[in-house]
Amino acid sequence: MLDGVAGPVIAVISGLYPFTAGAGSSLAQLRVRILPVASWHSSAAAAAVSMESSSIVIALLSAGVVLSLGVNVYLVLFGSVVSVGEGEEEGSGAETAPKIKPERAPKPRPLTKLPRRLDSVPSAAVLPLTPASAAVVAGLETPMATGLKTPTTTGLKTPMATGLKTPMATDLKAPMAPDSECRSVEVCRVVLEAEGAQGLSDGEVAQLVAAGAIPAYALEKRVGDAVRAIRIRRGLVSAELAASALPFEHYDYSGVHGQCCENVVGVVPIPVGVAGPLVVDGEAVLVPMATTEGALVASTARGCKAISMSGGATTVLMKDGMTRGPCLQMPGVARAGALKAWLESDAGLAAVRAAFEATSRFAKLRSLKVALAGRLVFVRFTTFTGDAMGMNMISKGCEAGLAVICREFADCEVIAVSGNYCTDKKPAAINWIEGRGKSVAAEAVVAGDVVRRVLRTSVEDLCRLNISKNLVGSAMAGAMGGFNAHAANTLTAIYLATGQDPAQNVEASTCITLMEPANGGRDLRISCTMPSIEVGTVGGGTALGPQAACLDLLGCRGPSRAAPGAHAQRLARIICAAVMAGELSLCSALATGDLVRSHIALNRAAPPPTPANSLASTPSASAVDVRREAAAHGK
Ligand code: ADP
Repeated sequence: MLDGVAGPVIAVISGLYPFTAGAGSSLAQLRVRILPVASWHSSAAAAAVSMESSSIVIALLSAGVVLSLGVNVYLVLFGSVVSVGEGEEEGSGAETAPKIKPERAPKPRPLTKLPRRLDSVPSAAVLPLTPASAAVVAGLETPMATGLKTPTTTGLKTPMATGLKTPMATDLKAPMAPDSECRSVEVCRVVLEAEGAQGLSDGEVAQLVAAGAIPAYALEKRVGDAVRAIRIRRGLVSAELAASALPFEHYDYSGVHGQCCENVVGVVPIPVGVAGPLVVDGEAVLVPMATTEGALVASTARGCKAISMSGGATTVLMKDGMTRGPCLQMPGVARAGALKAWLESDAGLAAVRAAFEATSRFAKLRSLKVALAGRLVFVRFTTFTGDAMGMNMISKGCEAGLAVICREFADCEVIAVSGNYCTDKKPAAINWIEGRGKSVAAEAVVAGDVVRRVLRTSVEDLCRLNISKNLVGSAMAGAMGGFNAHAANTLTAIYLATGQDPAQNVEASTCITLMEPANGGRDLRISCTMPSIEVGTVGGGTALGPQAACLDLLGCRGPSRAAPGAHAQRLARIICAAVMAGELSLCSALATGDLVRSHIALNRAAPPPTPANSLASTPSASAVDVRREAAAHGK
């Protein structure tokens, strides 16, 4: 964790452009309107600084490009990170929970008139920076205050490494150096005071940023026009960025600033495809997936078809509880034991619960799990968080609960509100065993005929493959929750499309896939059990227009007024069922040896047909292609 300034760091957030798309031949009659997505959380920058790298890795992966089913998605790119304080790790974000915008009533659009049983669920109890641009970015927070001269002369690669707060803004010559048309800094300052940024040219505003009169991170606020602010920031970072293909116009930034991303310099598109319809608990849904992995959507769609033709998936929500695990320290083990005993008593739990629940209309403290490591005390708060994924909500509640603990035990020291006993965005057995977020199981019985005709394999072969690969193979590899073929693929694509925190795929995609013969061996029973699906339909990236549109598609946009929590639970159920569809299809492809062939067909395909090449056929695979493909997909 860093307090104060962290230097130049690249983080990413996403957003998108709306397109209207017909969604593939089997869905052509549906004419689905999809607003693409791939979301990011403001915490990604903090995570980057604190070396919580998974957000950034995913962000950079997400910044790839395209497979187009007629829909484009955008990520937002930005520069440096400002003050990152205690408690902001792991996506918990700011202390103050962002205000939820007035929600539009969710408008589910079921494809069939089947009962919406899902709704009736009761709520459960770096970019390499040039020295000049790096300096600008590093100087974003407090340019010039010290008047320090060029850190580049120190030989440091980026000013960040020095920990200096205010490097070399005076040396900012390029790329947006004031041109001869710009008035002097002094005059511009006066104009800024008198008229605001409207009275200044872009070059003059940039000049004021370089002079420290406007913090670059506050450009949006001072300029009052997000697109103009971003254009100026891009110019400050580098001429290359300003002229780059990274888009930034025609995007609604109103839900970004102060909520999802800082120091925005653009948006990165990710294509969104749809798989389905998938019948889940009697209702057909179309599943939006943001991905650049060719074949993923098509494969999931095949699994959806097989499941839906066989009557659909049945899901069970076993548990709903987001967790936070603070770390406390007592003078010695005896006092640590006393604290544990008190927290496990009715009186202790009641006192902590009262304080915790006073912080939110929605937060309900379900349990406290206490573990000692010597005199360190870890307390895992498990909490119902309504339709929010819940990290902000639970962090606030934990702080209130910790205050009560410290009043009761004056010798108790809070080491961190997050003591990694949560566990957020890191592999940990505790999530696999106890669950985190929504614990869901999905099941389907796929007719033998469908296994043969749609999946082109047999019940016997699928069962043998599942045991050998997903159970024995994973056991041989020492897997923890990885008893599946590619749950992370399906889950992360839906996470990106619906504004979830994609870094949580670490634990959310833990899954055990089981297959066995049913009905005397004629049919296939498949299930996926996922104990830690962390999702929300309010907060974070879910409020961004395109992401919200994808939630709309699933009939779970925003808060559920009827039963708080029902929308987030519905999303978790759909994700688990979609993961099962992905498992079914990929395992079938593996059983028949189709995996490499289909990936080559869908990943190595020629560009979209144009009049000139519209007769182009699927390219044939060379031996090199085949080897590359096999290596690229570690499935
Ligand atoms: P998170 O806790 O997932 O980080 P946020 O704190 O950003 O989410 O958003 C949750 C906010 O949404 C809270 O302020 C909460 O009061 C509000 N909210 C509105 N409706 C609901 C709901 N149905 N469930 C949960 N939170 C809701």
